[in-house]
Amino acid sequence: MEYEVVVGMEVHVEIDTKSKVFCACSTNFHAPPNTNVCPICLGMPGVLPVLNRGMVEATVAVGLALNCTISRWSKMDRKNYFYPDLAKNYQISQYDLPLCHDGWMEINLDGTTKRIGITRAHMEEDTARNVHTIGVAESGVDFNRCGVPLLEIVTEPDIRSAQEAFEYLTRLKQLLQYLNVSDCNMEEGSLRAEANISIRPVGTEKFGVKTEVKNVASFSGVQKAIDYEIVRQRQVLEEGGTVVQETRGWDAAKGVTFSQRSKESAHDYRYFPEPDLVPVIVDEAWEKRIRESLPELPRARKQRFQDSYSLKPYDAGVLTASKAMADYFEAVVTAGAQPKPAANWIMVELQALLTEHKQELEDCKVTSASLAAMIGLIDDGTISGKIAKDVLIEMFDSGRDPKAIVTEKGLVQISDTAELEQIARDVLAANAGPVADFKAGKEKAFGFLVGQMMKATKGKGNPKIVNDILRNALSRV
Ligand SMILES: [Zn+2]
Repeated sequence: MEYEVVVGMEVHVEIDTKSKVFCACSTNFHAPPNTNVCPICLGMPGVLPVLNRGMVEATVAVGLALNCTISRWSKMDRKNYFYPDLAKNYQISQYDLPLCHDGWMEINLDGTTKRIGITRAHMEEDTARNVHTIGVAESGVDFNRCGVPLLEIVTEPDIRSAQEAFEYLTRLKQLLQYLNVSDCNMEEGSLRAEANISIRPVGTEKFGVKTEVKNVASFSGVQKAIDYEIVRQRQVLEEGGTVVQETRGWDAAKGVTFSQRSKESAHDYRYFPEPDLVPVIVDEAWEKRIRESLPELPRARKQRFQDSYSLKPYDAGVLTASKAMADYFEAVVTAGAQPKPAANWIMVELQALLTEHKQELEDCKVTSASLAAMIGLIDDGTISGKIAKDVLIEMFDSGRDPKAIVTEKGLVQISDTAELEQIARDVLAANAGPVADFKAGKEKAFGFLVGQMMKATKGKGNPKIVNDILRNALSRV
């Protein structure tokens, strides 16, 4: 029997507000354990939470970017359960009235555009972090994270492959970064993705029993976990068994999912309205103000890059993949570089250096102004494109100005025709064979002779002048 996979995603994102969602404690991730705490986030009796306005605004911004309806009236609820990382024994979340609902996001795969429905995006608080140290008989709890604003984004079961899930997560992260609401750092847990996965015979409507795969550290891990679950669930069904509804973990080293616990249902949590918080009312005027303050989003920016800079769709897509890269590109162009060479240098040479050194563009020493200056040196004939690659490596390592590097290392290209003519004569005299080949009509020999000239000038010969002089010299042989 042929099966198809049905996937819904749940993503938790920590929102970058300065203070926590219900108290004034800092959200700084790098503070020493249990230093960003107060009676409210430690869940002491009798304290009163106050909702962070910044969290409401960030949630509405994300909701609008995801084409959601924004609730005029919503509320916070208590989700009751016990866990050592939850001092109150309940988490403040949103149950039946989420702030944002019924939206969609487009993904693009192999040239086909598809809409993934967004069921809801709601506000809640993060829990504390349990710290288990190998070889130590006790565990610690760090309450710094308890009460950090958390946004949960839930999709409809619209995803039909592991690849679509990967694409959805990539687009969502891109959107959140453009909105500047979270650093989306998966290693620090700022963004956590869970996949609800089931399979059903192709052509049937009824959903199969789903498993929820949690605690996956990367998007590619999610993709692999889904592919693994498809095979595992099919095997269970084909052997006449039934898939158990449960939460499964992902073992990245072994490449397998494993059973963690049976899945709770909503009624297990005994949700009820949070009596200590007033309802959240977002009127039309407030929603409008947030909508008007939204930055240019990835799709619009990609289109503008095609229109304003005459870039190909592929190049515009690469350059707008992250906000940091799009900003960098525009800064290089503003600093005087032509869009096309600026795009090429960023996407090819600079990107290769970043990948090689596992560095982020934000930490790169090559400033937009110095890259523009380097491209300028190629334009005005000071250096060749080939030499520029070496200059860029030097700039990448030291952060120095390209002009200073070129002057110091004597990299200015040779455009002096008399000097190049002499070198051409020497090269022709030393390479009688290839010269004869060229004369016999073998154009390939010309390339070899150009190579010899570049070698003789240590790569500094102005390529265009070298070509002209060499052709000229050959015509006189
Ligand atoms: Zn606090």
